[in-house]
Amino acid sequence: MPTDHGFSTRAIHAGQAPDPSTGAVNVPIYASSTYVQEEIGKHKGYEYSRVSNPTRTALELNLAALEGGHSAHVFASGMAAIQAVLSRCSAGDHVICGRNVYGGTPRLFNQVLARFGLRFTYVDTREPERITGALEARTRLVFVETPTNPLMELCDLRACADAAHRGGAELVVDNTFMSPYFQRPLELGADLVVHSTTKFLNGHSDGLGGVVVAANEGQAEEFRFLQKAMGAILSPFECFLVLRGVKTLAVRMRQHDTNGRRLAAWLVRQPKVLAVHYPGLPQHPQHELARRQMSGFGSMITIETGSLANANRLLSRLRLCSLGESLGGVETLVSHPATMTHAALGAEGRAAIGLTDGMVRFSIGLEEPEDLEADIAQALA
Ligand SMILES: *Cc1c(COP(=O)(O)O)cnc(C)c1O
Repeated sequence: MPTDHGFSTRAIHAGQAPDPSTGAVNVPIYASSTYVQEEIGKHKGYEYSRVSNPTRTALELNLAALEGGHSAHVFASGMAAIQAVLSRCSAGDHVICGRNVYGGTPRLFNQVLARFGLRFTYVDTREPERITGALEARTRLVFVETPTNPLMELCDLRACADAAHRGGAELVVDNTFMSPYFQRPLELGADLVVHSTTKFLNGHSDGLGGVVVAANEGQAEEFRFLQKAMGAILSPFECFLVLRGVKTLAVRMRQHDTNGRRLAAWLVRQPKVLAVHYPGLPQHPQHELARRQMSGFGSMITIETGSLANANRLLSRLRLCSLGESLGGVETLVSHPATMTHAALGAEGRAAIGLTDGMVRFSIGLEEPEDLEADIAQALA
């Protein structure tokens, strides 16, 4: 698969040559835990499915090609992928993390990994100097998300990479919100990319998964070892689902972006909507950075309704938009960050990052935008 092919061509073909034995155009689900060996040590590259599986290989080649990475390594969920990244650290190591990332990330860091002696400092990564200021002798990783969940704050990936590298640390970027179609952190100096494939990459809300994209062979070896040693790998069936989803990633992202821009502009005009957080709006404080760093703005929009009661009224009246955790699917999902994804932060933790009880987050799907506007309009009324 030549790497100079365009994005959609890679999404449809990378890692997915027709099956050599049957000609099947889709990579089969290799439901096999083990593989016969001709003699001791002589096999066709596969020994045991925790180590590797042909369906998984196809997905890993595909995702590496989309992010422009050296290799990709898929895990049972986004959290399992993040856990794998952190598993390269040792007790006493220090990690700098954005202060406003996916709620499950600080939960894993503070409530699990801190018990194993890892140390974490949370900073506002909108200002890369804060990373420089938090660096310690044993800082190994800088972990950022852009745009963030649910405040839609950005960080300048090139500046974050420079800051991390000056301190001898690696920059890890959770690229779930943008997908490689709109943002490729490795091209901006990042050392590792992670995704929850559960979201835009799979795109159909029918399976969980995670991926780590590595930039070099040294990292790749470590992640292959961690897949084998820790075992939280993605099953062949889920790999098949992500492979199928990714084939339409480009067309889905283009439509998500079109719908997102339209809904954001419409929401701004609704008197009961007090604020709209969307990087595609010219009034977003980091709109210029968004234009420079991303090739689209996506479909994640957070609005301010003013109070928990207002948020609850809106959420209970929506009919087409479904209240639920998750994002990035073909259907519009709406969530209440303060009581759902970011409940674990506590009221003080939420106040510290500016996350209010009145915030409602939309993951705008691929429905007709006028139907979504009509649904939100009746719920606001
Ligand atoms: C959902 C999500 C995760 C966690 O992924 P799971 O697949 O749910 O484990 C991590 N980061 C971001 C930005 C997410 O949206």
